[in-house]
Amino acid sequence: MSALQSYLSGKWQTGQGDGHTLIDPSTDEKLGTAGAQGIDRAAAMTHARDVGGPALRALSFAERGALLKELSGVIHAEREALIEIGITNAGNTRGDAKFDIDGATGTLMAYAHFAKGLPDTAHIPDGDGLQLGRSPRFHGQHIWVARQGVAVHVNAFNFPAWGMAEKMACALLAGLPVLEKPGTPTAMMAERIAHLIVDSGVLPEGAFNFLCGEAGDLLDHLGPQDCLAFTGSSGTARKLRILPAFIERGARINVEADSLNASVLGPDVEPGSDTFDLFVRDAAREITQKTGQKCTATRRIMAPAETAPALAEALAEALQAIKVGDVHDSNHRMGPVTNGDQLTSVQEGIGTLAGASKIVTGGAERLGDRGCFVAPTLLLAEDAHADVFHADEVFGPVSSVLPYDGSVDEAAALVQRGLGSLVTSVYSDDRSFPVDLALQLAPWSGRLYLSGKRIADHGTGPGIVLPSMVHGGPGRAGGGEELGGLRGLQFYMQRTAIQGFKSTIEAAFGKPAAE
Ligand code: NAP
Repeated sequence: MSALQSYLSGKWQTGQGDGHTLIDPSTDEKLGTAGAQGIDRAAAMTHARDVGGPALRALSFAERGALLKELSGVIHAEREALIEIGITNAGNTRGDAKFDIDGATGTLMAYAHFAKGLPDTAHIPDGDGLQLGRSPRFHGQHIWVARQGVAVHVNAFNFPAWGMAEKMACALLAGLPVLEKPGTPTAMMAERIAHLIVDSGVLPEGAFNFLCGEAGDLLDHLGPQDCLAFTGSSGTARKLRILPAFIERGARINVEADSLNASVLGPDVEPGSDTFDLFVRDAAREITQKTGQKCTATRRIMAPAETAPALAEALAEALQAIKVGDVHDSNHRMGPVTNGDQLTSVQEGIGTLAGASKIVTGGAERLGDRGCFVAPTLLLAEDAHADVFHADEVFGPVSSVLPYDGSVDEAAALVQRGLGSLVTSVYSDDRSFPVDLALQLAPWSGRLYLSGKRIADHGTGPGIVLPSMVHGGPGRAGGGEELGGLRGLQFYMQRTAIQGFKSTIEAAFGKPAAE
């Protein structure tokens, strides 16, 4: 078994001790270990801050954008090998692995493109300049500048490629060196990508740093110019938010956490209609893609009470048609969950939900005698308002149908019980229902996906995170925000108000005159 490596302080390093064992969740085969015991994280942060930071800030936005494009190409060139790693170490179907890898390369390319909209200066003007006093001489201008710290990225296990690349794209373009820490159970993909990035020599020394294994005391070394972008469970986020780095030293933290994403079927949608069928197709994909281990997966389905039984039946039929099994066999369309711990957690979650609902299909039983398999599971709630459906995310192929009375108010009340989501989708061909619901739900959702027959062949489905649109959500979802085009850079930059003599400020910091 090979021991995965970290790239810190300008060299590849292997942790001491046994490390965490990585497995193939289809077969239980042991694949390797990841551990970072004994690696000097303080020195790594200093190296990134002092060597990578100045080197990146010496480049223009356009030059940094060009580096992102090159990185995208470097990763894309190894797509086939990376797909194999996703299949083996993450239990991904080929399609799931492509989703992760193409998401990574696509996001890097998108940010290479967004860079073209940035000026050829070290700062970005924010809005127009303002006259601040009676005389026009006293003038103000807001600007964004790169923070002089390290962008530390702690990622969840479910998107080892995309999760790393989407954070990296924003930070590198903003001008910050990155220190990437993947979720340990699926770290093989991220480690392979780290080797590709380092071997390519595309980035200046110190700009890319990679910690493979436990975080250890990493976050103790964050100072006031550093940032942590965290993706993972709300339980881990709770521990991180109160660290001295954030509450004493003023390092920034952005949290992308759990979400009980909802999908609402409008009262106008008849069983058997095109929009009904679209809803069933999208919901089945959202429940089973990446074996439901997707932060944007649909966990709660609100359907009008009179339609709910027909919907549950149609969706159960679609889920039963999905072949579950060892993803080394390409006939299987859903793979295992990531490891034994994840399996236990999903089984317990299904057990809890089943206490307040009828299992329509699937169940908590482990499938087969090896690997970490569970069937796609759909439950039909006895009482949609029962706490259990709105309390805990079951991070697997599991969703519950919650009947409601067909009104905007009840749909909104049920969605809000999730206390803040990454994405909420509404399927309706009515003109007012989705709009009225969207207005009630916008404060509770990072993204709203309004679907129906008019975009049936054009929409991506609710689970796809696009680089041009913000990702993140309020409340339980962490309160964070990533991506959204150039908005994604702001977390890594300082907005500063500059006040003084108009011509000096306009010449140095104002918006460049349009050509
Ligand atoms: P997790 O257990 O919270 O771990 C997330 C990351 O935090 C991992 O890299 C983990 O490292 C690290 N970590 C754990 N304890 C830490 C500590 N004390 N200090 C610093 N880092 C620490 O979550 P997970 O099981 O990997 O991922 C599943 C969860 O992520 C789900 O709840 C899902 O909803 C959420 N998620 C959210 C989004 C989003 O965008 N909102 C996206 C994907 C996933 P180790 O792996 O080494 O323990």
